[in-house]
Formats: sequence, C-alpha cells, structure tokens
Amino acid sequence: MKLHIGDKTIELVEGDVTRQEVDAIVNAANSRLAGGGGVDGAIHRAGGPTIMLETDAKYPGGCPTGTAVITGAGNLPSKYVIHTVGPVWSGGGRGESELLEAAYRNSLELAAENDCRSVAFPSLSTGAYRYPMDQAARIAITTAIDYLGRHDLPELVRFVLFGQGAYGAFAAALEEQG
Ligand code: ADP
Repeated sequence: MKLHIGDKTIELVEGDVTRQEVDAIVNAANSRLAGGGGVDGAIHRAGGPTIMLETDAKYPGGCPTGTAVITGAGNLPSKYVIHTVGPVWSGGGRGESELLEAAYRNSLELAAENDCRSVAFPSLSTGAYRYPMDQAARIAITTAIDYLGRHDLPELVRFVLFGQGAYGAFAAALEEQG
C-alpha cells in the first residue's frame, strides 16, 4: 500500500526491516545502545559486530528516549542504520506520544542530513516497549506525512511491518490520514 505526497512516497510492506535495500534502516534501540531482542537483535545479528563497535565508540553516553544516532550498516544491504529509542508504554500519561513522535521525526531529520533518499522503519515501541499498535501506527503515519510535506529528503519512507496485525493497523492509519 502506498500514499503519494507530491513527489514523495509512504509505503507499507509486511516483512523484515533488516532485508530492505534502502539508504537507511531504523533500529528500535534502547537508550544504552546495548543491543537487545526484537528488531535490535535482528539488526546486530544480520549486520555483524561493526555496528555495535561504532555505537560504542561514537555514542558512549547512549541515546536518550526520543533522539536518534547514525552508524554504518555492516553487512546489511542499506548504507546506514539510524538508531532511535521510542518510549516504554506506561499508560499514556508520561509523554509517550510526544516521545514516539520525536523518535520518528529525529530519525527522519538524521536521514535527511545524511542525504538519504529512502528510509525503512519498523514499528517503533510496539514490541518489548508495549505501545498500543493502533495509537503507535497513527503517530508513525502522521509524523511521516507531516515531515515529507515540509522537507526535500527523504523521498521514500517505507514502514516494514512484522505480521498482519501491524500491517493492518498501519494501513488503517494511512487510510484515515491519506
Ligand atoms: P521496541 O523495544 O521499540 O518495542 P521491538 O524490537 O521489541 O522494539 O519491536 C518493535 C516492533 O517491531 C514490534 O511490532 C515487532 O513485532 C517488530 N519487529 C520485530 N522484529 C522485526 C524485524 N526484523 N523487522 C520488522 N519488524 C520487526
């Protein structure tokens, strides 16, 4: 499923974010950049040890929730990995929606600063961090539409959804906004 915004595109696919041939893929990291399960584990397994060596060397203080940092992509087919940290869901009253929006927006900004034309995101915060999928999907889609409407890069944002539940939630959000 696709939405065109001028000459920009938002695309939804079901699949594995580590396999995307785009300029940058986004990692759902933790604030210590310590590696973990889910997307993070899959990226470091497939990308090899150089990614963690680079985060350790360049970002020893980690990456606070809502911010993003960038590294090379090791053995992955993309050029870069953008590591961002979404919020842990704790009921919605602790600034979770603003932090999730910031994680998407700061990742898109970092992609643009590094001349990335195409970026692939997983659904941030909706695994181990337990953000409700429908609400997270709406934030992901509205933030991407807003960003693409106001900047030259990136030109393509692809959301790579793991399973039909995630795909369905993002498709509903895209239909609502598109
Ligand atoms: P978080 O800690 O931010 O919640 P997770 O990695 O636990 O991050 O999960 C985020 C989302 O990514 C979940 O919806 C999960 O199903 C999905 N996911 C897990 N592995 C992959 C993958 N390889 N590619 C795309 N999505 C994935």
